[in-house]
This record gives sequence, structure tokens and C-alpha cells, in this order.
Amino acid sequence: MIKVAVNGYGTVGKRVADAVAAQPDMEIVGVSKTRPSFEAFVTKARGFPLYIADPGKKGAFEKLGLAVAGSVAEMMERADVVVDATPGGVGKENLPLYKKLGKKAIFQGGEEHEVAGFSFCSDCNYRDAIGRQFVRVVSCNTTGLCRIINTLDKAYGVTKVRATMVRRASDPGEVKKGPVDAVVLDPVTVPSHHGPDVLTVLPHIDITTMAMIVPTTFMHMHAVQMDLKKPATKEGILSLIDAHPRIGLVRGGTGIKSTAELKEYAMDLGRPRGDLWENCVFADSIGVIGSEVYFFQAIHQEADIVVENVDAIRAMVGSVKDPAESVRMTNAAMKFTAI
Ligand code: NAD
Repeated sequence: MIKVAVNGYGTVGKRVADAVAAQPDMEIVGVSKTRPSFEAFVTKARGFPLYIADPGKKGAFEKLGLAVAGSVAEMMERADVVVDATPGGVGKENLPLYKKLGKKAIFQGGEEHEVAGFSFCSDCNYRDAIGRQFVRVVSCNTTGLCRIINTLDKAYGVTKVRATMVRRASDPGEVKKGPVDAVVLDPVTVPSHHGPDVLTVLPHIDITTMAMIVPTTFMHMHAVQMDLKKPATKEGILSLIDAHPRIGLVRGGTGIKSTAELKEYAMDLGRPRGDLWENCVFADSIGVIGSEVYFFQAIHQEADIVVENVDAIRAMVGSVKDPAESVRMTNAAMKFTAI
């Protein structure tokens, strides 16, 4: 069993912990929190040993009936791999500790590429992550872009990508964030950081992105246009997506035209937390005009990177060398079949 610790049990951390706990070849040796928030109570319900970032707060946890197993450093010592899911920028501060303890660590998309020196997407570069000490799982939007660009690139060759990201304002639990009533250009200038971030995984792709933030919490929506080297058909693209374990199709017959209905669908399907771990490509939006392809895809910001973290663990430990096998194992353990 691969021993995994999750440093930072928040939006991403709690999902990764559940995904890891479901795997036949992994176990959670501990999760960490800074404050005794409701998520600390979830660790207790799940039976995950709880470690704390600030030992001075031990009394505050214990007063609420939350047993503290030790410090974050003690948690790391028990792990083969630490998934660092602390807020963007904190992972960089934790890097010296991982180095000192000689631990493998996975960082999230809120960290710069340079923190790990290697940016990961299961689809694109799993084999290059084998045996590495540090890996960064790219952000939710970048993961969604990399999956679909790589799939079409392998089949047809992609010469150019232009994409606009319409981003959710905050995660559902983030009550203090906005905007509440505005469309915010993020940034006003071109490109947004998403295109350059895709290049950390797929350096040969010509990509430019723009982004804006809108007042919603559900999901991001991408409007994507790609130029292909070889001629494609809508049917060909649909069958590539159909065969992909982590790209789903929002079929016209479902009547779904929005992120709200899509999220409702995921909840009705009984997905944990209503999570959509796959890209959700709107089948009817796929248009092929000459060598140009157009489509919309929705990306569940809290979810798509979760399964990537699980694969990254296997790659870094080197226990599974074939990316397709790791993806199969991860999905099967989570009872995940793309929509
Ligand atoms: P979050 O704020 O929901 O959770 C972070 C957790 O880390 C909190 O529980 C916090 O208490 C804890 N924490 C803070 N400082 C800590 C420390 N020094 N030691 C241990 N724990 C500490 O954040 P999140 O949304 O889960 O984001 C985590 C990372 O994942 C960021 O890099 C972010 O950019 C990335 N990410 C987030 C999303 C998303 O939709 N939320 C999607 C993809 C990637």
C-alpha cells in the first residue's frame, strides 16, 4: 500500500483524500488542517488521522472533541507521498520541508511550475513523472484543456488553439468571494495564464487564451477553437471523446444547456459531492468547418484534478508504469465512468 498524506484538507484536499482512500493500492496516513473548521469534523467522520499545521492550536481542536495525531512534519514522516493541497503559494513555502525530509510531494495548480519543475496531466506525460520527487498537477482549467487538446493532437495534429475561459467566481463554500454582480475580465490583457500553463505540459502547442469571471459557483465553461493538420469530421471527434475515460459528452437528448443542469445531473447520478471528474463536452456544440473545430466544454473546478492527483501518486512511486492502467484503476475504484 502506498502511504499518502494530504497536507491541507480543503476543497481539493478533502476530495483527493476520499479518492485515495478508495484505491486498492493506497491508504491515507493523515490529513492536515490549520483551524478546527467543519472540514476537521469530516476528517473525524472519515476516520482520517488529523494533524495540525500550528501545534499551538492543539487545545482549540481538542476542546471540540477533535483528536490531534501530531504535527504536519510528523504526518509527512509517515507518508511515501504528500499531496500538498494548501492554498496557492503555501506549497512553495512547504517545499524546503519536503526536501529536508526527503519526501515525494505533489503540488497543485496554484503553485508556479518552477516549484515542482514538472507539470503533470495523466493523459499527456504520465511516463515522464515516473520516479520523480516533485510533481505539480496543473489547474482545473489547464487539465481540461490539456486532455482535449492532447486527444485531438494525437488523432489529427493540432496547429493552433484559441480558447476563452468563462470562470466561476468562487467555490460554493467560499462565502466571502465575488463578484456578486459583474463580469470581471481576468485579466484584461491577452493571454490569460491558461495558455502559457498548457505549454508547461504540451510545449509544442500554439495556444492563446482569454478569461473572464462571472458570478457563479458551479463550473467553468470553455469556448474552444482549434485548427487541425488533418481533416476531421464531427463523428470522428465524437467517437474519440466517447472512447476517452475522462472526457464526457453532454448529449443533446439530455436537454442540458447549462452548468446548473449539468451539476444537477451529476448529483442525480449519485456522484460524491456532485463531482464531475471528466471534461464535459457539449456534443451539439462540436462544429467542424474545414480544418477548424469548435466546441464548448464545462469543467468542474473542484473535481477534474482529483483523479489526476491519484495517478500522479502511482507515477511518482513507479508502481504502475502504464498510464492507461493507472487511469483505469483510479476510475474503477471511484466507480467513475465518464458521462
Ligand atoms: P482551500 O482554501 O479550499 O483549502 C486549503 C486548505 O489548506 C485549507 O483547509 C487550509 O486550512 C489549509 N492550510 C492553509 N495553510 C496551511 C498550512 N500551512 N499547512 C497545512 N494546511 C494549510 O484551497 P483549495 O481550493 O483546495 O486549493 C488548494 C490548491 O489547489 C491551490 O493551489 C489551488 O490553486 C488548487 N486548485 C484549486 C481548485 C478549486 O477549484 N478550488 C481547483 C484546482 C486547483
